[in-house]
Amino acid sequence: MSVQPRVDLDTLPSYVAGRTVPDAIKLSSNESPGGPLPSVAKAIAAAASDVNRYPDNAVTQLSQRLADKVRLPVEQIAVGCGSVSLCQQLVQAMCAPGEEVVFAWRSFEAYPTVTQVAAAAQVRVPLDATLSHDLDAMLAAITPRTRLVFVCNPNNPTGTAVRRDTLARFLDAVPSNVLVALDEAYREYVTDPGVPDGLEFVRERGNVAVLRTFSKAYGLAGLRVGYLVGPEEITSAVKKVYVPFSVNALAQTAALACLDAEDELLARCTQTAAERERVRAQLCDLGYEIPESQANFVWLPLGERALEFFDHMLANKIVVRAFQGDGVRVTVSSPDENDQFLMAAATFPR
Ligand code: PMP
Repeated sequence: MSVQPRVDLDTLPSYVAGRTVPDAIKLSSNESPGGPLPSVAKAIAAAASDVNRYPDNAVTQLSQRLADKVRLPVEQIAVGCGSVSLCQQLVQAMCAPGEEVVFAWRSFEAYPTVTQVAAAAQVRVPLDATLSHDLDAMLAAITPRTRLVFVCNPNNPTGTAVRRDTLARFLDAVPSNVLVALDEAYREYVTDPGVPDGLEFVRERGNVAVLRTFSKAYGLAGLRVGYLVGPEEITSAVKKVYVPFSVNALAQTAALACLDAEDELLARCTQTAAERERVRAQLCDLGYEIPESQANFVWLPLGERALEFFDHMLANKIVVRAFQGDGVRVTVSSPDENDQFLMAAATFPR
């Protein structure tokens, strides 16, 4: 007999990260194209001299800054090792084995994984014909065993966003014992005023939480820090399943420095959003069908040709993210990198 892991992990797919290829333009992970601001790099370097010490396990200073920023009590904040960790903690905190997590599909790839790791049951609800969340169908999918619903807004990878009235109607109808987690990893790129800030709903309702990250707009993907804003009962439970010290000292310091420089970072997001509109318009001119995006990426619903497009881009030294049989997600980057992508897209045989 040999040692064996849990048998149910056999069916668990490994998380597939966006690929990095030497010397290629990386448009595969929705990262910020700019490196850290000088003030942020300086804060990280200064904090490096203390790494013989454990970080603050309670993430005290950053939690308080975030509470001030969102104008809610600090008890309603939980900071995690990236928002993907908080997704996992949420499922662990909400679901006993076999209880259900509802989410749209296709959506963020970690939802199925974190659900399965917690031995909870996945309920995938197809996106509608416009590649947006079908909130009526998601509502219909809720059963007495449902504990958690993820709504990714804007949705990764399609970029589509749910609007205020539609979301409010959905939340009105969701049973009050079901937690709705609004995953707003891309919130800072939203330009449509009809797309709500999920914090509005956290303030009004007892069963809504918002997930945010420093990985995209704040440019700290490599340091791993995200946060959850929600009812105190939920943030307390999420903290109980936190892996001790998993928000490291450099991440805490860097996130605080980013909050000090927030205006500058948000100005970068405005530029990225403008580039997104330009990239989408040019792709549409080239004959691609691109759903409107509110994030820092666009979605090319190429179906069976997704991998072919990926290979074509790779031959042009550009790495995009292909989802076999479905489509391709392309991160919006600097004007120069976007131009190179558009040139390559123009030569894809169609
Ligand atoms: N939610 C969504 C929708 C995402 O796309 C991502 C990153 N790809 C995350 C959460 C996780 O981000 P992080 O763990 O880097 O905070």
